[in-house]
Amino acid sequence: MPYKDKEKANANKRKNNKLHPELARERQRRYRAEHPEQIKAARRDYYWRHRDRMIELSRKSHVKHREARLLYHKQHNRELKELVIKTYGGRCTCCGERELDFLCIDHLNGGGTQHRFKVGLGSRFYHWLKKQGFPPDYQVLCYNCNMGKESPDGCPHQRRRNEVLVLRKGYHGAT
Ligand SMILES: [Zn+2]
Ligand SMILES: [Zn+2]
Repeated sequence: MPYKDKEKANANKRKNNKLHPELARERQRRYRAEHPEQIKAARRDYYWRHRDRMIELSRKSHVKHREARLLYHKQHNRELKELVIKTYGGRCTCCGERELDFLCIDHLNGGGTQHRFKVGLGSRFYHWLKKQGFPPDYQVLCYNCNMGKESPDGCPHQRRRNEVLVLRKGYHGAT
């Protein structure tokens, strides 16, 4: 086929595609479905011919959408934490704190640190809890009470409660 005619034919095709975009799309869709190997090869070919530009584009897009991506993850992780904390009672088991940012999940029988190292920190841990169907041996604590629990005497809240109990019973310590 002479070059001129091919060019003309292509121009004609383009014109027709513009006139009937839905037909063109359908034709394209069918071609893609029937020629997966050709499509793959063409993509690969295109990539290698424009490799530097493709890498640059992908880098630019990565940077451009960085904020949006971070925000998305932040929101997703917050929702996940909300769900986990709510499922385990929604407030600190020790002092009743309800502010989500102050709350965390604590392993009832200790060994939390080791366990968290195994399943990961933060959202990975929350994912794990959700996936396990929220196992019962966890509780909500605020960071203060979590720290307090680690000390040999237990959380100061708990200590004070015990003191009050002891006072109420009229016990003033051994002499
Ligand atoms: Zn607390
Ligand atoms: Zn406490």
